[in-house]
Amino acid sequence: MSKKTTLLSILVPCYNEQDSIEPFTQEILPILSELPCNFEIIFVDDGSDDATLLLLTRLCEKNACIKAISLSRHFGKEAALTAGLDIVEGDAVIPIDVDLQDPVELIPEMVSKWKSGVEVVLAKRIDRRAESLFRRATARGFYKLIAYLSASPIPRDVGDYRLMDKIVVSAIRQLPEKNRFMKGLLSWPGYTTDVVEYSRPQRSTGSSKWRTWRLFNHALDGIFSFSTAPLRMWTYIGMILSFFSLMYLLYIVFKTLIFGIDLPGYASIVSIILFFSGINLIGLGILGEYLGRVFIEVKQRPVYLIKEKIGF
Ligand code: UDP
Ligand code: MG
Repeated sequence: MSKKTTLLSILVPCYNEQDSIEPFTQEILPILSELPCNFEIIFVDDGSDDATLLLLTRLCEKNACIKAISLSRHFGKEAALTAGLDIVEGDAVIPIDVDLQDPVELIPEMVSKWKSGVEVVLAKRIDRRAESLFRRATARGFYKLIAYLSASPIPRDVGDYRLMDKIVVSAIRQLPEKNRFMKGLLSWPGYTTDVVEYSRPQRSTGSSKWRTWRLFNHALDGIFSFSTAPLRMWTYIGMILSFFSLMYLLYIVFKTLIFGIDLPGYASIVSIILFFSGINLIGLGILGEYLGRVFIEVKQRPVYLIKEKIGF
């Protein structure tokens, strides 16, 4: 086999990762150079305000296989990944975190599965013991809910770390939405999928930018971006409430006709009004979620802006 005819692109979003970049390249380079294909590492600097960009520039100068793009400001990991996916030219692409939480040792196995013909190789966490009980429980709840609500499946315990053939990458490029729920978008194209399993280690350096509240909002994003079930829910709630209201109305009318008018009822009226105002507001809120999303989409703003390409 004339060996190295295919190109593997490793895509690494970085936000304030000056301490992680060096250990990361040191771990990944020996593994990549053993692979039966060519490789490139593309770092995406997500508008870091530490020495990340400086370090990346130096790396690119030293190593022809390393390239970097830098965004004009901090756009978020989703945008950074989108920028990377738009620019890579590899026959296969692996997005990976720089903090070594995605074990680089999996790459050879992913590549060999890809070479044997699958288009997507997911890295699946089989052991989340490193995370808190609360985070594991909420993660499990989220995957159950989204599987139930959404038509395009989002695989469980799988992050952005996966190998994708270029055919999958070009499918993802065609997804025009500005609201980038990556877990969902990356899985949307489908194609033949295989899995390699790993247990996720703690972050080695720096700290995670994910706090609980942000994670919760992220989960809501996932649901609202990949399902219209919350909208439909209001049709059902409306129908059920109308039915009970009608029953109650008939009851009141007949009671009044038979027993005459019975005035007291302040407490029940107030509680009914309060309850239904609450229900109305939740319904409005959910409508607002979708309206907000439509608003973002119709503005057609770019997801990211590239300030600089280094080493291309
Ligand atoms: N990241 C980014 N932009 C952000 C947040 C994170 O590019 O706004 C990058 C970060 O540098 C790292 C990866 O995304 O390479 C994962 O980030 P983190 O470890 O904070 O997330 P977690 O592992 O907790 O999901
Ligand atoms: Mg991490």
